[in-house]
Amino acid sequence: MAEGDTILRLAQRLEAALVGQELAVNAPNPRGRAAGVKRLDGLQLEAAEARGKHLLLHFGELVLHSHLGMSGGWHVYSLGAPWRRPRSSAWVVLAGRDQEAVQFGGPTMRLLTARQLRSDAQLSTLGPDILAADFDVEMAISSLRRDYTRGIGDALLDQRLLAGIGNIFKSEACFAARLDPWRPVGDLSDEELRAVLLAARGEMRDAVASGRKSFSIYRHRGPCRACGGSILSRGQGDANRTTYWCPHCQV
Ligand SMILES: [Zn+2]
Repeated sequence: MAEGDTILRLAQRLEAALVGQELAVNAPNPRGRAAGVKRLDGLQLEAAEARGKHLLLHFGELVLHSHLGMSGGWHVYSLGAPWRRPRSSAWVVLAGRDQEAVQFGGPTMRLLTARQLRSDAQLSTLGPDILAADFDVEMAISSLRRDYTRGIGDALLDQRLLAGIGNIFKSEACFAARLDPWRPVGDLSDEELRAVLLAARGEMRDAVASGRKSFSIYRHRGPCRACGGSILSRGQGDANRTTYWCPHCQV
């Protein structure tokens, strides 16, 4: 599952590999052709942007929007290097001078105009991006408080309240802040919400910088690293995404 850190790291990689170049664009799989991506052929990639878990590739008046969900992936290869997946399954291939980026699968790949992007229902309703350079923690606290009845673990996943956090960093941030993920947002102080938000941002920025995620509680087997007690896991929220927590450390 690609969370905001993975998408930001990918955007940085695409920026270095392809931005400023006119790209040769192909769509080996019919899914890409149906999205009309051939219209991008020969256009210059101007910017690669991560917005929460969404990747936006800006080609002047056209924008390629992708969301990888649980199953999709972008690979970056040197031109001519072998691919790790069959060519026929590639939705879009963006080839530059030395490198090419290839998208395989995922719930979303579509072409928008810059104007459609500004009014898009999915993208314009995203909450504050946890990894944005200008992230404002007080604004993020206000946004989370819009749904005060939900458990904090569930609220952190709602991209309309806060963009970028996925199932891993939901559990990790609640553990780092020693906060019970089942406590309703309305029961938490600003200080507690600030702590969990800044923990998520700090851990995700580390993951962007290093390319690695180090887990303290997510899918952890064995006793809690902090107290030696038993870790619990259970599905949370409408989507029943598994939350991991230590009932001794997190209150
Ligand atoms: Zn513990």
